[in-house]
Amino acid sequence: MILDVPELSLVALVGISGSGKSTFAARHWAPTQVLSSDFFRGLVADDENDQSASSDAFDVLHYVAGKRLAAGRLTVVDATNLQSHARAGLVKVAREHDVLPTAIVLDVPESLAWERTQARTDRTFGRQVITRMHRDLRRSLGQLAKEGFRKIHVLRGVDEIAAAEIRYEKLF
Ligand code: ATP
Ligand code: MG
Repeated sequence: MILDVPELSLVALVGISGSGKSTFAARHWAPTQVLSSDFFRGLVADDENDQSASSDAFDVLHYVAGKRLAAGRLTVVDATNLQSHARAGLVKVAREHDVLPTAIVLDVPESLAWERTQARTDRTFGRQVITRMHRDLRRSLGQLAKEGFRKIHVLRGVDEIAAAEIRYEKLF
């Protein structure tokens, strides 16, 4: 499956914890192109899992994204991006820099994400958190277009995620 992505774009990955966003990002982009919420929570709070640091972490993430876009650099945001207000912050940064916001949704079964989560040492939350995220994801699918995402790619299941290739669209 070919995913068309504008050459200069702000790409929001969207998916529940365990859906494989960070794995997908590492496969398709250089580490410096990917801004992850975990990394920025670590920067501001010394703890990638400190959810109370999210607001500060996203402030800094948005700031860095803006600097990158101003310099004409494709930027990928590796966060769950399951809440409308979280995505609105990204659409705003993209618009401020006349850049197209793109969403790539990793839609895996809740049961698979939970299996993966249980095998991780860097995630400690319970099944009900994954269930809530999955509900948020279903709701998100119908909202992305009206929120301003100009390209929306939905990868359904592990096979589509594994087969995905990015193709960059020239803007001019
Ligand atoms: P979070 O939102 O918690 O950061 P995530 O969406 O970034 O989660 P990953 O960390 O990429 O998810 O993946 C979760 C776990 O599943 C990891 O242990 C990873 O190695 C594994 N995983 C991801 N993709 C695959 C895959 N295609 N096949 C097998 N295992 C995978
Ligand atoms: Mg991750």
